[in-house]
Amino acid sequence: MGEKRRGRLVVISGPSGTGKTSICDGLLKRIPNSRWSVSVTTRPRRGHEVDGQHYCFVTCERFEHMLANDELLEHAEYLGHRYGTPRAPVEQAVERGDIVILEIDVQGGAQIAQRVPDSIRVFVLPPTMETLQARLGGRQTESDALQCKRLAEADGEIGFAKSSGHYPYFITNDILNNSVERVLEIIRQETGQG
Ligand code: 5GP
Repeated sequence: MGEKRRGRLVVISGPSGTGKTSICDGLLKRIPNSRWSVSVTTRPRRGHEVDGQHYCFVTCERFEHMLANDELLEHAEYLGHRYGTPRAPVEQAVERGDIVILEIDVQGGAQIAQRVPDSIRVFVLPPTMETLQARLGGRQTESDALQCKRLAEADGEIGFAKSSGHYPYFITNDILNNSVERVLEIIRQETGQG
């Protein structure tokens, strides 16, 4: 009685272009005690991105330093750039009882599955590979070559997610609101809240 409930980590993974960021935005709006984990990355900032909000953009040296100091809860390399989840903000938020949303790739998801077994891990699938191709093609910020690389990555990511057993939940993002509802339902079931 009166004991404060610990928070939980919610991992949202899926190929680039499946709309997982929109799902995360929906979750953040709908779950009052939720927060977004701001990753560090060595990739260049895209036009609309705000440093410290979407990502913390860091140099390779800074990333290496954080890794060596055990400041990252998980990390991965994706298309030649490095990404990682700063440990301290996540641990503090979980201590406060918050739901922490991590939008990370499958390599990171696998590490979280091992290090934080009670994390809730959801993999987002595109309705079809054609829709994925169309969505990636709609990104004005990227070259065709980069879009092709992301598409090629997608196959591997889906295969890994299905075979690794690290993702107990798969959802197909056909209609955004339905997908947000599905993930909310998973979180309610897992946390016994709501
Ligand atoms: P993008 O460059 O399109 O923002 O992200 C590329 C991939 O890296 C996406 O699958 C995204 O979910 C993933 N990603 C973003 N931040 C992290 C992180 O901190 N760790 C890991 N493992 N993957 C991340």
